[in-house]
Amino acid sequence: MTTSRATEPITANDEAIRGALNDAFLPALLPALAQATGDFALLRHDLRPPAAAPGMVQGGMSEEQQSAVRDVAFDALKVLRDGGVNAKQRPIEDDVRRIFKWMTSSPASDDYIPLLVEEAATAGQDPRAPTWHAGDEPGLSVAIIGAGMSGILAGIRLKQAGVPFVILEKNADVGGTWFENTYPGARVDVQSAFYSYSFAQKIDWPNSFSTQDVLLDYFRDCAEEQGIREQIRFNTEVASATFDEDACTWSLRLRSSAGVEEVIEAQAVISAVGQLNRPKLPDIAGRETFSGPSFHSAQWDHSIDLAGKRVAVIGTGASAVQFVPEIAEQVAELKVFQRTPAWFVPVPNYRDATPAGLEWLFLHVPHFMHWYRFWVFWTSTEGLLPASIVDEDWQSEGSSISAANDQVRQLFTMALNAQYEDRPDVLEKVLPTYPPAAKRFLLDNGTWPAALKRDNVELITDGIKQITRDGVVTEDGRLIGTDVIIYGTGFHASQFLMPMDIVGRDGIVLKEQWAGDARAYLGITVPNFPNLFMLYGPNTNIVVNGSIIFFSECEVQYVMGCLRMLVKDGRRAMDCKQVVHDAYNERIDEANLQRVWGASDVNSWYKNEFGRVSQNWPFNLIDYWKQTREPDPSDYVFL
Ligand code: NAP
Repeated sequence: MTTSRATEPITANDEAIRGALNDAFLPALLPALAQATGDFALLRHDLRPPAAAPGMVQGGMSEEQQSAVRDVAFDALKVLRDGGVNAKQRPIEDDVRRIFKWMTSSPASDDYIPLLVEEAATAGQDPRAPTWHAGDEPGLSVAIIGAGMSGILAGIRLKQAGVPFVILEKNADVGGTWFENTYPGARVDVQSAFYSYSFAQKIDWPNSFSTQDVLLDYFRDCAEEQGIREQIRFNTEVASATFDEDACTWSLRLRSSAGVEEVIEAQAVISAVGQLNRPKLPDIAGRETFSGPSFHSAQWDHSIDLAGKRVAVIGTGASAVQFVPEIAEQVAELKVFQRTPAWFVPVPNYRDATPAGLEWLFLHVPHFMHWYRFWVFWTSTEGLLPASIVDEDWQSEGSSISAANDQVRQLFTMALNAQYEDRPDVLEKVLPTYPPAAKRFLLDNGTWPAALKRDNVELITDGIKQITRDGVVTEDGRLIGTDVIIYGTGFHASQFLMPMDIVGRDGIVLKEQWAGDARAYLGITVPNFPNLFMLYGPNTNIVVNGSIIFFSECEVQYVMGCLRMLVKDGRRAMDCKQVVHDAYNERIDEANLQRVWGASDVNSWYKNEFGRVSQNWPFNLIDYWKQTREPDPSDYVFL
């Protein structure tokens, strides 16, 4: 799969190569050069990066090491340019083992090697592709709901396996969240090298952290190149899905954007609707009475010119933190209503373009992007998970949950102190009192404090009493007159599959079975709902490690395994056993209570109305990967 340019031959002169090396990410460059030249002696012991940890500049390499790596890389690049390469093809496992050992100073356990090989996915390989084909008479049809990141992925895999499918998409185009969230400043907060499919890596990302338009183009390209678009019915919403136990098929009632209804049948349904696609407007008295324009961040009204207006923003989550700095410059007055301050991870290059030298290296060194992704993957497999695990003996009066967590708190507090040194009045409002990682971290390069300190911006932390015709009234009775209200108030995250009506065996309604407390086995299957598979379902959100694309790839791998069982064994349907589902959920709940997001009483979208963490995965990435590699038939009843 292409989605981007292929690496180009090196024609640059020595000086230009030297110049590019100044921008290189060295811990991934040497492995790429070793692989490209076949000269693994480049991976010298004394040049190993000492710290494979997130955020470490050059993996913690000393200045001397960096300089020596640049010299070694310079010679290797000249070899590549001057054609002295005779790289032998070796099994990828061998390369992965050697490179992993060099990068991390430790051998990879045999457990990890297949996972690392999948993630490395060096050019042209797709180790996660299905190894089976349904044949000419698959006897199985699938309806996928949603053409966002995970729906496209499911479509690609079904196509590879020769399983007929249709994708039903309520919007006019693919992309899901990246189609809908067009607010100014929207961008991802996982590096694009990793926030992309393992089998469709791009070498020419314009920024480390892509903007919304770039990601939308990426997902469009993926759908286009794989011939998935033809299988998508746009402007088509699924109103309900009902299982017919005799026929073992699902009937899906569709509604087009023109209001036309239709029923289609499929043997299996894959829900790929995501967790964050139904905007949530706050339950504030008088909201409907406001006389000016108002809209939610995920439904940005671009027809409204904010220039010179008095604007109120409610919410200071990931969305608001991105759009507030963008609009602050245009508006006359900006009042930002904050209920709970966020912990910020300082990321100096968060909004930067890919440096020219690094860009050149990605474009000219074969495999460099793959090993760069590999580094990002590895350093985020644990991420801040160890600092999120509750230490029962830790005493802190609620501001941290362990020594490691407290270290993070101190580090981030120092960063906030420095950023707001000149504005103690704002610092007081933005310093969180709950432990880091209990709510979602936000990434920033200083743009947010700069916006809050502007003369035309006020951060208001008084509670909101009501909204009137003229603006927002705080609890103490102050009326903040405003022309426009923008709601950055998040999504109905815990109301999975909302607002669809899903009816399973014996007329059981999913909404009623869940009763507001959505659960699933592996986040994918639910007892009484045979052949219904969810992607990014309950407890599959990760918050301090990994990327949800990694999770979607695991989920789709599992679903494909289920479909394979149905096709190959001539079965009609599979229903998750209640006992398996319950035991799994007990384990998840127990672990989430031992994580900072479960233990802390701060409010967050990770918890549902009962205070249960229904979104987050509490363990490591490899734990999920292992459990989803292949379904165990004994977990299911076959109909
Ligand atoms: P969010 O994180 O749920 O934030 C909603 C904000 O609105 C919070 O500050 C919340 O305050 C506030 N709020 C909600 N109801 C309120 C009320 N009645 N009165 C006053 N304030 C109220 O929503 P989001 O910012 O749209 O982000 C949602 C998720 O989408 C993110 O966590 C992330 O996973 C994803 N996202 C990612 C990116 C990215 O990758 N960079 C960007 C945008 C979104 P409390 O904190 O007190 O609840």
